[in-house]
Amino acid sequence: MSPLPPAPSKFAVAARQALADTGRRHNLSRAMAALRRRRAAATAEAPDWERLRRAGRAVRDRALLSLDTQLETLEQAVTDAGGTVHWAATGAEAARIVIDLVRAGGQTEVIKAPAPVLGEIGLERALERAGIAAVHTGLGELVLHLAGEDHPAHFLLPAIHRDRAEIHRLLVRRLPGVPEELGTDPAELADAVRAQTRERLLSARIAVIGPAFAVAETGTLVLPEGDGGGRVCLTVPETLICVLGIDQVVPSWRDLEVVLQLLPRAAAGERMSPYVSTWTGVSEHDGPARMHLVLLDNGRTAMLADRVGRSALRCIRCAACLPVCPVYERTGGAAYAAAGGGELSGPIGAVWTPQTRGVDGAAEASLPFASTLCGACGDVCPVEIDIPGVLVHLRGKVVQARRSLPVPPPEMVLMRTLAWAMSDRRRYESTLRRGVRWARLLARDGRIQRLPGLLGKWTEARDLPAPPRDPFRFRWRRR
Ligand code: SF4
Repeated sequence: MSPLPPAPSKFAVAARQALADTGRRHNLSRAMAALRRRRAAATAEAPDWERLRRAGRAVRDRALLSLDTQLETLEQAVTDAGGTVHWAATGAEAARIVIDLVRAGGQTEVIKAPAPVLGEIGLERALERAGIAAVHTGLGELVLHLAGEDHPAHFLLPAIHRDRAEIHRLLVRRLPGVPEELGTDPAELADAVRAQTRERLLSARIAVIGPAFAVAETGTLVLPEGDGGGRVCLTVPETLICVLGIDQVVPSWRDLEVVLQLLPRAAAGERMSPYVSTWTGVSEHDGPARMHLVLLDNGRTAMLADRVGRSALRCIRCAACLPVCPVYERTGGAAYAAAGGGELSGPIGAVWTPQTRGVDGAAEASLPFASTLCGACGDVCPVEIDIPGVLVHLRGKVVQARRSLPVPPPEMVLMRTLAWAMSDRRRYESTLRRGVRWARLLARDGRIQRLPGLLGKWTEARDLPAPPRDPFRFRWRRR
């Protein structure tokens, strides 16, 4: 049985650990630069990209503002097509529903296609604790599993922080049956994995999958993907379990047409997704005989109630905001996961997690500050989410939450003391005189390298110039 996950830590602490791993940083930085180039080229060649973005925003807003109706329509359509709909208020409840369905089918093994929503509900660990083995259809997920890593570096490309040589070593050492002489060519690595997992994939009775969208009017589920691994789940098993966030509904096929044009260009710099699978309920003699749809809330309705924060629900999980973020590019997904972010990392993780988990915990409250507010994420988002605006809004919420604490944090005590001193001229000037004298005692060659106590955060990454002996304010008065 695997241990319980560690308590989340503040983002800054986790980021410091990530920064110490220079090899991973190098791999991630190189991969992100390539993704940036590909996305920029793919969006530049689309003549109507900005119009498409506006249309995507409108489609997503329309779906979210009528979400109750869309979900009822979807439930009815899925049921009419022979599927069964389950509702889960939390991630734990969704994972329990999946486990109950697997046990009801008398199975101890499932096949699982990678999807951010399955990471969000902690399915991998929940299955493990329930004694159910998961066979991965994606190479990236398998690599993480073999390496014993709990969280992906990137929510679409889980093992992007590992280079070919590392992946080769992991496969040879940890995947039974892989020969030592295996080459490091990506196609060869993928073939070796297929050869080892094919039997288990073909004999599985139950599959778990996280579709990207659901079309409410027909109850159709949609899975765009790059490698077609998810298609195994739609053909071989007898039972298909789909987990879908309630925000991922689009009203009609016309709306789907818009998001399917935005997603591949923003996600991978491709004109269209190499594989797009769609399925509606069950069909006789074609694919799984039973289909379950688990609709997951997990904080989404609370997010919908926030006029500013709700725009994050437009997200189509393209991950375009990750490679352009200077914070994500240096830290990778593990730092966001350590701050309670689960699978979602980068700018979208920094606005999603504090909204779904609240900002009372120090770790979640640290995420809106994991940004330079440079605005690059908002500029590339294909559905025009103003991520920097939401981050600032959430920072305000964190401050509000701190104000109501019975014992205010030291930073707030310091700020209140400064506000008190600065609200009166005499007090201010007296504080200034003492501050200057004290600061000059700490200076060496005109620079202060380390301030004491809480002020030390200022000098963690830079020096402070020593203040002049005679501050401007006093000189001005004497002029
Ligand atoms: S916030 Fe925008 S750019 Fe980031 S993953 Fe979501 S849709 Fe893509």
